[in-house]
Amino acid sequence: MRFVFSVCAAFLTILSGVHAHTVDLRSLPLGDGQVSQEPRVGSVYACQTRFNPNAPGARRTGDWLNETAGTFDLTRKPTVDGNVVHLSELEIAISGTTRIVSGNGLPDHPTGQFPIARTDDAYFYDRNPNSIRAHTYSVSLPLNPVIASRPSCLPMGAIGIMLTGAVLFNALDARGENALAHEILDRCQGHPQQSGLYHYHGKSPCQDDPTPAQDHSTLIGYALDGFGIYGYHGEGGQPLASSDLDECHGHIGSVMINGEMQTVYHYHATPDYPYTLSCFRGVPTSIAGLSGGGGGQAGGRAGPQRAPRHGEGVQRPPHRRPW
Ligand SMILES: [Zn+2]
Ligand SMILES: [Zn+2]
Repeated sequence: MRFVFSVCAAFLTILSGVHAHTVDLRSLPLGDGQVSQEPRVGSVYACQTRFNPNAPGARRTGDWLNETAGTFDLTRKPTVDGNVVHLSELEIAISGTTRIVSGNGLPDHPTGQFPIARTDDAYFYDRNPNSIRAHTYSVSLPLNPVIASRPSCLPMGAIGIMLTGAVLFNALDARGENALAHEILDRCQGHPQQSGLYHYHGKSPCQDDPTPAQDHSTLIGYALDGFGIYGYHGEGGQPLASSDLDECHGHIGSVMINGEMQTVYHYHATPDYPYTLSCFRGVPTSIAGLSGGGGGQAGGRAGPQRAPRHGEGVQRPPHRRPW
């Protein structure tokens, strides 16, 4: 299935102070190579310093990519077909100064059919052989996180829990490149990696960003340092791009959190790379069973042009954690 966008929907106008620029979903920056070993605006500060350019993943380089221009056309990228409903569990409780987030990692929206069926046009590009599986977890996050003395790098694997119940990975695939540009995802922009953990690499289009005009986006998830993640809009309803945010993809501002308006640090999702967090501003925790692994999923790119991409799975039985 292909996204069908009207010309209008392909553009998201971003107003930034006196500047106005447009994010064109047909010509998004590829972001490949924007990985760093230090905090930097527009770049993922990755804990992993070496990536395998031959890690398994999608089979072919898609015709939605324009590597010469360094852009990709999200509206031309195939999506994994299917409408599979899951029993999502997500519970968020407060205990003293702690927010306890528990769940099974399954989203509250339908997903594509994984493994990708032979009859799916997406199969031409990506043979993700993994099935979506529940991953029961519980994590304690600070209710009122504080900014750490210095930012921390982002691991591969879960960096946040979204309010859909699914987890958030950073923007990278196992090759250290832009997962959203290269990996084949379902219409909610998620897919399972080799242990069956369904994840996004940015804000899912299946998650509401119910921003009334003139208002700041509402909360869409929690990063694993405890800070909230909000949608595409800043104060006054201003659409945000990466360049409007700090080196960790956040800023300090007035938001609704813990039932009241507070002026606190928080992250934003943006339509441009690196989409969500680019480092942790606070002190991160990790979740056993949801950490490690590449940003990708599985598959094995068998096309002659390139070696396999995102690296999690082809030869591995789904129950075995390879990391
Ligand atoms: Zn904000
Ligand atoms: Zn992925």
